[in-house]
Amino acid sequence: MEVSKGKVVTLHYKVADAEGSFTESSEGREPMTYLHGYRNIVPGLESEMRGKSPGDSFKVSVAPEHGYGPRDETAVQRVPIKHLVHPGKLAPGRAVVVNTSVGQRQATILKVGRFNVDLDFNHPLAGKTLEFDVEILEVRDATDEELAHGHAHGPGDGHH
Ligand code: ZN
Repeated sequence: MEVSKGKVVTLHYKVADAEGSFTESSEGREPMTYLHGYRNIVPGLESEMRGKSPGDSFKVSVAPEHGYGPRDETAVQRVPIKHLVHPGKLAPGRAVVVNTSVGQRQATILKVGRFNVDLDFNHPLAGKTLEFDVEILEVRDATDEELAHGHAHGPGDGHH
């Protein structure tokens, strides 16, 4: 069975940015499962998946505009520490959750002051070209429930 819209795909992956400062891999863990055609993975990878079959391995380089988008330098803001959810030990590079006027958002700490922190609201992979290394394990038809939800329901999926 080939990957197309409405198929559930199980795969192993490695991903790194071009500088090698970020790497993530499903190696030694459960493979990733996603519903194809519903923007559950970055567009540049999803478009390469189309037409592939179990057993296929491939590498793909995804530019920021087809990945997590370009960096927005205006998305860096100084925020009072009291607006952080579970501030804990604050240090540059740490990910935090912030209460904002539009609800809770994720950000990365750039600088810690006495009462404020400078936060970067960009996705950590924004502006980066990503090198994916993918091995497709399984392709199956999605269930009606998965299609209605717009995502795959895998083993160990505890979100319901
Ligand atoms: Zn669901």
